[in-house]
Amino acid sequence: NLNAVQAKEMIMYIADKIIEAKPMLTEVDSAIGDGDHGIGMAGGLTKAKTKVEKMESPEDVYAVFHAAGKAMLMSMGGASGVIFGSMFMAGAKGMDPVGEIGAEELAQMMKRSLEAIQERGKAQVGDKTMVDALSPAVDAMEASASEGIVPMLTRAEAAALAGVESTKNFEAKFGRAKTQGTTIGFQDAGATSVWIIFKSMKEYAE
Ligand code: ADP
Ligand code: MG
Ligand code: MG
Repeated sequence: NLNAVQAKEMIMYIADKIIEAKPMLTEVDSAIGDGDHGIGMAGGLTKAKTKVEKMESPEDVYAVFHAAGKAMLMSMGGASGVIFGSMFMAGAKGMDPVGEIGAEELAQMMKRSLEAIQERGKAQVGDKTMVDALSPAVDAMEASASEGIVPMLTRAEAAALAGVESTKNFEAKFGRAKTQGTTIGFQDAGATSVWIIFKSMKEYAE
């Protein structure tokens, strides 16, 4: 299970890994986008880390995720701020406080976040966005939640990575993808961030 203190540590671990990946995310977004994704994600997760770090002995898992997502939403701005802020915030919003959650609750939280992201952003699988990584990852979580958190996150990471690869086959329809020329052959930056987030969640849980 994941308790509130562990949720806090997990967010901080994710933040460190996204900050580490900033140059790579910049490169990926530069190939077909405007190159700001690494800066946005690293900035947002720096704020999220600072925010949860200040929560001394947190007692509600959902409050930790919510605080992290809100810090991202407020600091990142733009479409990706809403999208990635929602990834942590939307699924935690309005939930009754709880000291720890299991694999099933974690899977359902991410599912609610995915639904909120799609409701807002209107992206479907195949539109070359972060949804291409998040949607299969959520499916994998739901399918393997009964196996426990570590096996579930292992499957989710693999599904997210396959999703990143799949974005190379699609043409970008959202965001500031360059209008001239094809985007086929290039992976989506936001999907890459989703994969790093799941990889980090898995590594933390192990
Ligand atoms: P911007 O596109 O404003 O420069 P970023 O570079 O930070 O913002 O983020 C771009 C990423 O956001 C894309 O790679 C894509 O994964 C994601 N994205 C853009 N629009 C949407 C949308 N409508 N739904 C889901 N994800 C989206
Ligand atoms: Mg931009
Ligand atoms: Mg960009």
